Amino acid sequence: MYKKDFPFFKNTNTVYLDNAATTQKPNVVIDKIVEYYTHFCANTHRSNFGDANKATKEFENTRNILKDFINAKDAKQIIFTKGITESLNLIASTYAKKFKTVIISSLEHHSNITPWHMQGRTLNDGLEVVNIKDNLEFDFEHFEELLKVNPNSLVSVTHVSNAFGTKHDIKKIAKLTHKYNSYIMIDAAQSLAHFKVDVQDLDVDFYAMSGHKTYGPTGVGALYIKEELLKELPVYQTGGATINDVNYERSIMLDSPYKFEAGTQNIAGVIGFSQALNYLNNIGIEKVFEIEDELYKYLNSKLEKIPGIILYNNVSNSIASKSFNIENINCEDIGILLDKMHIAVRAGHHCAQPIMKKLNIDGTIRASIAFYNTKDDIDKFIKGLKKAITMLK
Ligand code: PLP
Repeated sequence: MYKKDFPFFKNTNTVYLDNAATTQKPNVVIDKIVEYYTHFCANTHRSNFGDANKATKEFENTRNILKDFINAKDAKQIIFTKGITESLNLIASTYAKKFKTVIISSLEHHSNITPWHMQGRTLNDGLEVVNIKDNLEFDFEHFEELLKVNPNSLVSVTHVSNAFGTKHDIKKIAKLTHKYNSYIMIDAAQSLAHFKVDVQDLDVDFYAMSGHKTYGPTGVGALYIKEELLKELPVYQTGGATINDVNYERSIMLDSPYKFEAGTQNIAGVIGFSQALNYLNNIGIEKVFEIEDELYKYLNSKLEKIPGIILYNNVSNSIASKSFNIENINCEDIGILLDKMHIAVRAGHHCAQPIMKKLNIDGTIRASIAFYNTKDDIDKFIKGLKKAITMLK
């Protein structure tokens, strides 16, 4: 029903189940980008003529829509970045430096591991990792032990694992974090597009978001910053558009959000992103969750019946992405055969090598759904998977 809104599906028969890597873009997003470049292409926050004012207005409009989408108090708490990776690196190279210890979960994407290594933090030396339970759930007891030994830390965890779809109870993690005078940053790559996010209710300090995982353009993302932290958060990069007054002795910065957005931004991307959020708002994020939940349960019920399947978590603690292996078959071989059948899934380590190593596997096959997928897509995937297994046995 929704595929008609996405031009990608008009031009292909591919069963697209790689939504955790990136989502398809609806017409409204593409049209908006074309409209910007065709009708009001101008720089923002600088010049004062008609098209430049329109570009600035539309750019700021996205900030307001995103503010409402995540229920932030004020638009100045939203700063635009290239995506989650840049948002996490921004905090890693500025605010995080004041913390002796950074605590992450066992289910992090490399984007929330390598920035800490770049600072010279390694396991038990500036970096702590919360244990994982057998069903890939967050070990709260271990987390509290770590916080007791390392109060005043920065906790940086993903909302939902890209590798296994495991959903973390962020409200509970944030509450414990604050109990030990620590701060919390969340990676929202696999959450923002799937269910209602309320940053005030979650009580998180930083929330890193990605446009391209949320039906928006690539190369655009955002970082939500708790209001109390806006003043003390140091700037990351400086230059044009961040400055109130400059002479050769000093630079005086603008207030947030502008002091964090140096240089010409991805204007087309940010403006295009507004349409992805409007599109989701029109469907209703609760409806999106309902559709995906039904599809996810359907996918799980079909996978569970496949002989030789190895599953790593259960349907009740995960959403949207399902990872698995088949006994004695290399996951990448299955991925190659599925590709020949025009079924797009991801096979490999999903940029999460440490958890793969912990599970003693090279990788998994991951089928990740979006609300535009259908039961028919899942049936085709299961049929293709069975065929691939037969060929490889
Ligand atoms: N974190 C997670 C959990 C992801 O799944 C991804 C992308 O795959 C990223 C971070 C990186 O996001 P971005 O592409 O916006 O930098």
